[in-house]
Amino acid sequence: MKDVDVVIIGAGSAGLSAAKVLRSAGLSFNVLEAMDRIGGRAWTSNRHFGVPFDIGCAWLHAADRNPYFSEAQAAGWTMHHHDMNIDHLYYRNRKASEAEEAAVKAADAAMAALLENHSDMDDRLGALLAKGRSSRAAATFCGPMDFGADEDEISIADFRNAADLDPNYFTREGYGALVARFGADVPVELATPVTRIDWDGAGVACLTDRGTLRASAAIVTASPGVLAFEEIVFSPALPDSHMAAFFDLPMGMLTKLPVEIRGSRLGLNAFDDLLVERTARHDIYFLGFPFDLDLMVGFVGGDFAWELSAAGEAAGIDFATDRLCEIFGNDTRRHVGRAMMTNWGAERYVRGAYAAARPGRSGARAALMQPVGERIFFAGEHLAGPLIQTCGGARLSGEAVARQVVAQLAA
Ligand SMILES: Cc1cc2nc3c(=O)[nH]c(=O)nc-3n(C[C@H](O)[C@H](O)[C@H](O)COP(=O)(O)OP(=O)(O)OC[C@H]3O[C@@H](n4cnc5c(N)ncnc54)[C@H](O)[C@@H]3O)c2cc1C
Repeated sequence: MKDVDVVIIGAGSAGLSAAKVLRSAGLSFNVLEAMDRIGGRAWTSNRHFGVPFDIGCAWLHAADRNPYFSEAQAAGWTMHHHDMNIDHLYYRNRKASEAEEAAVKAADAAMAALLENHSDMDDRLGALLAKGRSSRAAATFCGPMDFGADEDEISIADFRNAADLDPNYFTREGYGALVARFGADVPVELATPVTRIDWDGAGVACLTDRGTLRASAAIVTASPGVLAFEEIVFSPALPDSHMAAFFDLPMGMLTKLPVEIRGSRLGLNAFDDLLVERTARHDIYFLGFPFDLDLMVGFVGGDFAWELSAAGEAAGIDFATDRLCEIFGNDTRRHVGRAMMTNWGAERYVRGAYAAARPGRSGARAALMQPVGERIFFAGEHLAGPLIQTCGGARLSGEAVARQVVAQLAA
């Protein structure tokens, strides 16, 4: 590894886009990636079902502001616009009445108004929802399923800063494959975790098992979960404001439970949304048969998703399959084929799905946007402004920070 202008840590959406900006500006760089592939949380794999399946991100959110969308279109990929309404709502195995479904829609609208007018000291989303007329189902969608955290663990200020993510699209070829295509021409040192960054002299020295790389600046795109665990040791230590920010942006969890259903569509249409509200916050959402594939893709989020990760894949698959059989009848079992459970919490270099600020701590994002010593910069989904938590947002964050680095090095 030879010394360069900038070291980029991580070859996910943010790191790859940062590299492209540096390259256009004529700076030399090196991208160091801990995993043996690029893409990070954007990862499409054929391994489980013989067709592209997104283990990580799948929805191209905010397509009108998301550069991946036009690239997928230009490449002629198969796109599907997905409006995220609950098409089928169940309370355990009972189908909700039309009146109950209408009440959920009304609760959703009321929640938007409550958020708009909120000025209380209590920054817990759960407290706001408890005050309003919002029903459990509406809360499930915005809490565990969207933010990857239960309502009491979500900051209202943070939630309010996040944009409405319409319009949403899927691509049959896979979002992870799209990010891999975007990054294919970026040189990356794979399987090279950075263990330490020394910044006491001029510039930075990044230590890896394969040697030390020196540069004028570093762009760190590892998740706040990874940074909170001090997978990268900074010497001297980072300011307290930054260390506190890693802790104040804990990783939420979203777990996918795709179950193959062969020879039946369960009376559903492709891309139908089905929400099963249960007790003890053990709710599950299914995306029905995307692109008419033989797949019901289950999702659980928040604390329950962490619980299922601990219980293991077999328990997770049984949970999803049992819910389908409860609703569609035991005969469904003979249609069940392969299944799997994602587990992003066990990925050492990710440690969860995406970050959500603790109540009262939404300022952590602004704190991390401050470079340290004019040479250590942070980027990623957690610093993506209104597009936080999204893959498109991570890309825009990487680009913006790389432009900042270009300006800094030119100064
Ligand atoms: C289950 C799930 C579903 C999701 N669904 C959607 C969705 O539908 N739509 C959407 O837009 N977003 C979704 N997301 C979020 C989206 O995937 C992320 O926001 C985005 O991919 C993050 O990109 P990033 O570059 O910020 O981080 P990452 O993708 O995490 O990239 C950071 C990289 O840094 C590497 N790294 C970490 N530590 C080190 C180290 N010490 N040395 C070297 N390398 C290191 C990691 O290996 C990783 O590759 C989902 C995420 C999950 C987990």
